[in-house]
Amino acid sequence: AKTEGKGTYRFFEASMGAQIRERRSIEHDLRSAIANNELSLAYQPQAQVDTGEVNGFEVLLRWNHPTRGSVSPALFIPIAEESGLILKIGEWVMREACREAASWKRPLSVAVNVSALQLTSDGFVEFVQAILEQTNLPAKRLEIEITETALIRDPNRALLSLQRLKEIGVNIAMDDFGTGYSSLSNLRAFPFDKIKIDRSFIQAVHANPQAAAIVRAVLGLGRGLGLPVIAEGVETSEELRFLGLEGCAEAQGYLFGRPAPIMEFMQLITDEFMV
Ligand code: C2E
Ligand code: CA
Ligand code: CA
Ligand code: CA
Repeated sequence: AKTEGKGTYRFFEASMGAQIRERRSIEHDLRSAIANNELSLAYQPQAQVDTGEVNGFEVLLRWNHPTRGSVSPALFIPIAEESGLILKIGEWVMREACREAASWKRPLSVAVNVSALQLTSDGFVEFVQAILEQTNLPAKRLEIEITETALIRDPNRALLSLQRLKEIGVNIAMDDFGTGYSSLSNLRAFPFDKIKIDRSFIQAVHANPQAAAIVRAVLGLGRGLGLPVIAEGVETSEELRFLGLEGCAEAQGYLFGRPAPIMEFMQLITDEFMV
């Protein structure tokens, strides 16, 4: 039993070592990803539920690694956050997204994910303000998506940043709503303009009484607080139909379009009368 325990321990130690090396390697390569032009932005449409009309896009970071190929943000964003690299990367995303949106012929919104470290870092609000001025993007067309975990890190600084962003006219959406520990009190304590229902509640919502009850409750909450609600991860027409019947105004998901280079949405961002 003793040797077995030791062997198990060694195996555990070895796989931990491999995991740590893997993280270090990703962190190392991420350091030069911007300079090497390996990062790009994918855009995913956010649409009106009743008409299908596109209101704007969420920006999602993509990393095309020279040997690993496409690396999932679910893997590299946490590493970027823990290593502090998210500050540089996040600045790059914000600048690129605002520059891109400012070039569109139609005043569609652009939603950028902002992590805890960015939101509470020194000069973040000034940085956003400077980018808006440099790119000439009206603040009301920029939305930042914040998850609850971003608020927990340093609630006082997060609140201050969000209040100041709101003052300059930037919209603030609470991302992954319903998955955090205290979504309701956070909704009251922070100046959100929009609620984004997490996709885990949207999946087969029409056929799942529990998910349906939660989505109905969130929509009621939105109505009561006067906050628009957007559903993320809408993949089927059944899900969309349910959302329409329950009065959800906006949706995003593969049904409307997968995240893709902005060129694939050319007809949406150019003036149709000019083509
Ligand atoms: P998120 O903000 O919740 O983004 C939504 C995720 O759901 C994206 O995954 C998107 O590709 C995916 N998705 C969209 N529609 C559907 C659908 O209909 N079905 C399914 N199954 N999935 C759908 P992605 O692109 O892999 O990004 C993962 C996460 O990485 C994001 O979750 C966000 O938290 C983070 N992330 C991505 N880009 C950035 C960024 O620029 N900055 C920061 N801080 N985080 C980012
Ligand atoms: Ca998001
Ligand atoms: Ca989300
Ligand atoms: Ca998410």
